[in-house]
Amino acid sequence: MFSDEQKRIVAKAIIEKLGQYECPMCGCSQFSIIEEFGLHMMRPMSNPINVSWGIPYIMLVCGKCGYMSQHNAISLDVLDPETTQTLKM
Ligand SMILES: [Zn+2]
Repeated sequence: MFSDEQKRIVAKAIIEKLGQYECPMCGCSQFSIIEEFGLHMMRPMSNPINVSWGIPYIMLVCGKCGYMSQHNAISLDVLDPETTQTLKM
């Protein structure tokens, strides 16, 4: 779960980057932010068994149809610059 301050940081970043955002499926403009960040796991082709690293993302869910969009947390600049593994506090 995000703290209130983390919710504010994520919401601010999304508004700054996306502006007015409408669901590409139904046109609704109300979204929920999933209060955990996800991680797309990546693995090198030469070694498909070991997961090597991942790309953190923030997920939005459309309030009408449930369409989910994923936004790179690095691009949103919401990660703690010290750890890059947690959200800014
Ligand atoms: Zn929708």
